Amino acid sequence: MRVPFLDFAAMHAEIGPGLESACARVINARSFVLGREVEAFEREFAAYCEAEHCVGVGNGLDALTLILQALDIGHGDEVIVPANTYIATWLAVSRVGATPVPVEPDAATFNLDPARVEAVITARTRAIMPAHLYGQPADIDPIRTAAERHGLKVVEDAAQAHGARYKGRRVGGLGHAAGFSFYPSKNLGAIGDGGAVVTNDAVVADRVRLLRNYGSRTKYRHDVLGVNTRLDELQAAVLRVKLPLLEQWNRHRSSAADRYLAALQGLAGLQMPHVAAWAEPVWHLFVVRVADRDEVQAAMRIDGIETMVHYPLPPHLQAAYAPLGYVEGAFPITEAMSREVLSLPMGPQITEGSQACVADALRAAVACSRRRGG
Ligand SMILES: *Cc1c(COP(=O)(O)O)cnc(C)c1O
Repeated sequence: MRVPFLDFAAMHAEIGPGLESACARVINARSFVLGREVEAFEREFAAYCEAEHCVGVGNGLDALTLILQALDIGHGDEVIVPANTYIATWLAVSRVGATPVPVEPDAATFNLDPARVEAVITARTRAIMPAHLYGQPADIDPIRTAAERHGLKVVEDAAQAHGARYKGRRVGGLGHAAGFSFYPSKNLGAIGDGGAVVTNDAVVADRVRLLRNYGSRTKYRHDVLGVNTRLDELQAAVLRVKLPLLEQWNRHRSSAADRYLAALQGLAGLQMPHVAAWAEPVWHLFVVRVADRDEVQAAMRIDGIETMVHYPLPPHLQAAYAPLGYVEGAFPITEAMSREVLSLPMGPQITEGSQACVADALRAAVACSRRRGG
């Protein structure tokens, strides 16, 4: 049996006709940029996030970048970011001219460790940008407490966590603003790029709205130096087909996670995902930790199981960030994770049968590598 990492074929068997009629609706409406689909989606996604405002933009990176710009964060400023996040969190900071200041994760939750935040706050720090990595909400309350004590903003990177809850509250409204991505493989994905800024701050929403559209409120009047990064009308129409299914899809992911947790329980040499008491994760990824990860991944591939690694090289060791001068060993928890994390197949259509195959293949691969490694 072949198990894909994410089964788009099964998803499109479920909603293919809906996607096609949404695309036809856009073609027939002949309003292709900032039309009624984007407007309606913004309203619907804000409501879903239990937040006041949503502004659709071109992608998740632009969402994060425009938030920082709207908060007047730029040259000379520092923004605290997770050391083990996808590089986009860092790039948003760099793109506004500020400096990303990495913090190691909590080794159990893989999310930014609030206990390490205070130590890196300086006179230049302007914001803390936790990511809800793998769909697990970050521990926001102590992060907010630290931010309030030092007059900092809290910006959520919610690109992997559409619908997750922290102490009952939806991500997206937990800080000053949140950036979402609708990259196709995300829990809520478009058929191309897309993103959104969600916030309860009317001023931030208004600034982002201005910045995403050439700094213009009225056609051919430009108030600020804006950019062109609007959520596409076609993508908004597609997202409106998927949004009503997101709760059900996230529940399916959650049941699938429970099945993995039960099937892999007690497997020596494997660290399972940890769900904090206050977390309602949406399982964007199901990430285990194992020594000899590359060997285990290769063995599973031979068994037809497609797995992925999020992420194999942390941002501080990327060539792009060589100018910051970090060397190997600077962030040992993050670096160990990058050698040991393995993401198992997961998705809103994954079947019990596929999961049983994944669990069997993983058990066999881990046992085999432990026999060899001693
Ligand atoms: C996907 C992702 C982004 C960026 O989203 P794009 O739409 O690809 O620009 C940012 N942060 C995290 C954590 C992501 O997973």
